[in-house]
Amino acid sequence: MARKIGSRYTAHQILGRGSAGTVWLGEGPEGPVAVKLLREDLASDQELVGRFVQERTALLGLDHPHVVSVRDLVVDGNDLALVMDLVRGTDLRTRLDREKRLSPEAAVAIVADVADGLAAAHAAGVVHRDVKPENVLLDMQGPLGPGGSHPALLTDFGVAKLIDSPRRTRATKIIGTPDYLAPEIVEGLPPRASVDIYALATVLYELLAGFTPFGGGHPGAVLRRHVTETVVPLPGIPDELWQLIVQCLAKAPASRLRASELGARLRELLPMLAGMPPLDVDEPDAETDEDTGETQVPDEPVSSTPVRRGAVPLVPGAKPADSNRDTHTSMRVPAPDELAGGARGTARAPRAAGAPRPGSARNRAAARRRRVVLGVAAAVLVAAAGVGTWAATSGDDAGTPQDSRNSSPAAP
Ligand code: ADP
Repeated sequence: MARKIGSRYTAHQILGRGSAGTVWLGEGPEGPVAVKLLREDLASDQELVGRFVQERTALLGLDHPHVVSVRDLVVDGNDLALVMDLVRGTDLRTRLDREKRLSPEAAVAIVADVADGLAAAHAAGVVHRDVKPENVLLDMQGPLGPGGSHPALLTDFGVAKLIDSPRRTRATKIIGTPDYLAPEIVEGLPPRASVDIYALATVLYELLAGFTPFGGGHPGAVLRRHVTETVVPLPGIPDELWQLIVQCLAKAPASRLRASELGARLRELLPMLAGMPPLDVDEPDAETDEDTGETQVPDEPVSSTPVRRGAVPLVPGAKPADSNRDTHTSMRVPAPDELAGGARGTARAPRAAGAPRPGSARNRAAARRRRVVLGVAAAVLVAAAGVGTWAATSGDDAGTPQDSRNSSPAAP
């Protein structure tokens, strides 16, 4: 079923559906294109259409081998469409879902491409604001690079900014993907180029580990972790690579690398990573009680159903139309009580494969053993306190028992 878009383009078949609309394989005067037809509710938003036209120059100006170029913007009756270069391939989420974890060489090659694309955008004053595996396309017709990876291109430039309006972000039924959000966004600061670096470092971690550093559980907990938690090292990761990730996940935006620097530093690591297999990491799957630091030990056996990470509704009851393609772009900044409440959990420590899984039978047994040891230790302490009290009250002045509260060297 062909469909006319403006006077110059025809859309032939659906390539994919996203949260902002549907992407079609189309035909234009210069050959095949991808046409993103924005959702009806977005297309009928006058304020958005106005900004769409306003942003035209910035969006059309980005031309880089690792950026999916926007060739045209079409406003035609009820249609609002972005005409883009057609990338014949797949998106990075699909590849990651298939392979679970990428080899460090492949992951670094892909992320270096995206960093180069971001560098060009940032130099042009454009912040992407929605860097995530769904927005990285792999061009299967391009040459194979390090780690057997095809060239990676960042797509959806400027769409976040277009869709994000104060009116829209006040709406309640909003879907979010909080896993890639920089802490300063959670704290309500305006997004600058460094938010893209944070999101890209999150993607790199995810490609290596198979899960994001702060994801999992209630979205409020995910957002809080971005602000308060420190990223936990991945077993077996080369130190130089880990240092780059840590630097780009810095809470302070100014401490992160610039995109051009990140791209260059990642490419320097490629020879060292050649031939290295994917890291042997298992996804942590138990929530940790933040008050006690103790792993919650369920009475029932842990379900083998994996917890879906990534896209989660920010507002209870909100259901993504297509949970594979959610975006955080129209997410509101949560209220402090939402950040604090509702869920427990910290950045969950990745385990080397083979290490006991929290909540597993092995780990439950270990937890029971820990409780027994703690019980014995508590009994010994109580007994010791009893002996201490007895000694203190038994009137031996010369042998006053040590009390740490009174043992300051400064005390006379
Ligand atoms: P959204 O950002 O609105 O969630 P996406 O941009 O992720 O939507 O697009 C949905 C799907 O369309 C993706 O799975 C991707 O594979 C496909 N797609 C998007 N842009 C292109 C393109 N330029 N060329 C080919 N396929 C594309």
